[in-house]
Amino acid sequence: MTLRIGTSGIPRSSARPGTDHGIRRARELGLQCLEMAWVNGIKMGDEAADRIARAARENDLALTAHAPYYINLCGAADVVRRSLERLLTTGRLAARCGAESFCFHAGFYQALEPAEARRRVQRALRGLTARLRDEGIAIDVRPELTGKPSQLGSLEELLDWSAEVAGVRPCVDFSHQYARTGGRVNRYEDFMEMLDAIAGRLGPGSLQRLHVHVSGIEYGPLGERRHLPLRRSRFRYRELLRALRDRGISGWVVCESPEMEDDALHLLRVYRRLR
Ligand SMILES: [Zn+2]
Repeated sequence: MTLRIGTSGIPRSSARPGTDHGIRRARELGLQCLEMAWVNGIKMGDEAADRIARAARENDLALTAHAPYYINLCGAADVVRRSLERLLTTGRLAARCGAESFCFHAGFYQALEPAEARRRVQRALRGLTARLRDEGIAIDVRPELTGKPSQLGSLEELLDWSAEVAGVRPCVDFSHQYARTGGRVNRYEDFMEMLDAIAGRLGPGSLQRLHVHVSGIEYGPLGERRHLPLRRSRFRYRELLRALRDRGISGWVVCESPEMEDDALHLLRVYRRLR
């Protein structure tokens, strides 16, 4: 594997809507991967998924997916059940599209003791990965490092779940880590420390298949406020790219900036100049 850089969602400059057209446009631009942003729900049939798979194969574009936002794996029983259904649908369709990984936000602590919330999420992840395995669906299940301390998804939680549940791996959103720590995690050394923590817990192979999110970001006392263009934020993406280079990271770097392909291409250029 190599490190691939691309957008979240189809490029804005895509002449026609539809992920298959977005894939062709991403390829024309020189991008290397695309995250299907199903954050507001999934409205896709098997035929569309097959078209996407064909376009991705023909254009050598790697795909990942982002599950809908409405997920809470430690909420009330019916909320968890519906969340698992959404995640199963995401996993099935994403795999049919040829994606190798999908990410999601695991849930909110709300009134739960953090340890209890973590246990519930872990139990749900066990059920989800077992279902996918039973159906013969091979795709990484990736809870995401989230941008607010009120959300589950600290790096430690991701590493615990990944170590405990086969099929689960972390989606490492470095901008969210920066936001949830009030801007403290923002230097080359901090990013290296995170990468070393991942490799230390999950083995060096985990860095050869890493799902990464990057964006400019604004934060406040409660963490993430909104995503920003890379160059309008203090997040030090250049230092992150240097850390990714120095640790020889492979996988997918998904740029979640509102500037879409402009910022994804910027990341790609900066990364190439490092090498
Ligand atoms: Zn996300």
